[in-house]
Amino acid sequence: HAEKRVWNFSPGPAAIHRDVLSKVQEELLDFEGSGMSAMELSPLFPAYDTMWKQADKDLRELLVIPDDYAVLWMQGGATMQFSAVVFNLLGDGSKTADYFGTGNWSERAIQEARRLGANVNAAIDTRETGYSTLPPKSEWKLTPASECAYLHYCLNETVSGVEWFEIPDVDPSVPLVCDASSTILSRPIDVARHAVIYAGCQKNFGPTGSVVVIIRKDLIGARPFKYPFPSMLDYKIMADYNSMWNTPATFPIYVGALVFKWLKEQGGLTEIEKIHIQKATRLYGVIDALSSVFYSPVQRSCRSRMNVVFRILGKDGKPDPDLEAGFLKDAVEFGLQQLKGHRTVGGVRASIYNGMPIEGVEALASYMEDFAATIKA
Ligand code: PLP
Repeated sequence: HAEKRVWNFSPGPAAIHRDVLSKVQEELLDFEGSGMSAMELSPLFPAYDTMWKQADKDLRELLVIPDDYAVLWMQGGATMQFSAVVFNLLGDGSKTADYFGTGNWSERAIQEARRLGANVNAAIDTRETGYSTLPPKSEWKLTPASECAYLHYCLNETVSGVEWFEIPDVDPSVPLVCDASSTILSRPIDVARHAVIYAGCQKNFGPTGSVVVIIRKDLIGARPFKYPFPSMLDYKIMADYNSMWNTPATFPIYVGALVFKWLKEQGGLTEIEKIHIQKATRLYGVIDALSSVFYSPVQRSCRSRMNVVFRILGKDGKPDPDLEAGFLKDAVEFGLQQLKGHRTVGGVRASIYNGMPIEGVEALASYMEDFAATIKA
């Protein structure tokens, strides 16, 4: 059948750039002259091994990862890292684990830490604002550094669409742990300010199935947990076995490798960031210009560049679920897919990660302008 591609605004698994998918298609049956598909190869098969090593090199180059950091590829998604962080960094449990509760994902991380017995201090809790703000440092309720095991935060909250554009300024002796799942590789990040950065691949660098963990080497195995925990979650075992304690998720690693190569070809993260600013500015521009129809609940200074969340207002100036349903239904006819907001917040969410080109954003912006003109008429 004829190829049909639409603009895919899914929050994840998310759009993968068509150049990357075309490359996957091109070598699907014969990877590097092996006569086998990349997903049929042992990770130790020479062509795969070379590709994976290059992927790690490219990732290090893109994110400027210092040599004293290890890169691990794990499974279980970012969700499994909510547990792994506790097992690997909490230690004997005598110290408090600080968390910034800024949205659904950091709340999940908090829930998991509590479930595993950590003494959690929510140093930020913006639930009452509908997770639409990031409060200034003067409002953080931090545990004193000497009593704090680590501080966990989520760099971009995928559901409500709030993003930190500055790394939280905290005592450098407190290990800073970052869930970067929905913004990694969209802009440079100062890795050296962090103890751990983890990110699932299915938003900015490939299909579901793998998660990258970037960890300062001196923390690996340095804080024994009070009881044994699964080997699969142990950073020390994963590091000692080069992420091959069990069979790694070879296909997402392979697609990740292609995305890293593609990102380098685009000029690296400084160039990629410019494109993201352009895309986000275009959509927020429409929302602000047509403010009688569209409304962004997120405080301006932390509006996410990755997940543009907005409501559609009825004549009474309140979010109108019927209008939103109509907007989403007709969008599909214009080839604009998976725009529905998360069920906990409703409305519309346009996720515009690395796989979404400016043309897709332009198509959505024009559709929004036309929609506003129709309902105003
Ligand atoms: N953290 C963030 C910021 C996310 O957006 C997501 C998924 O959407 C997760 C964690 C959970 O990832 P996974 O489903 O890979 O476990």
